[in-house]
Amino acid sequence: MEKEKYEILYIPICLSSSLPKTGWIQSCINCGHFTSKFIDFKEINCISKKKIFQIIICKDCCKTFKKDLKLQKKIYEYANDFINLYQ
Ligand SMILES: [Zn+2]
Repeated sequence: MEKEKYEILYIPICLSSSLPKTGWIQSCINCGHFTSKFIDFKEINCISKKKIFQIIICKDCCKTFKKDLKLQKKIYEYANDFINLYQ
């Protein structure tokens, strides 16, 4: 069996802040509060690595997010734009 190094990259989709991009704490995509909560949004498989995009969203916004279709649409659009720009 071949043992290949398969890298998994976690990419946070959040508001820009001075926090390190790879840290556990990021700023909520909706309100900007610092949070460690996220939702897995999309996985993209490349040859040698997998990219997992995660939407950073705080506890309070997450509650609204689950009920509010307009907010879902807004955040998904933002996230898709982010991914398009990222690649
Ligand atoms: Zn929030």
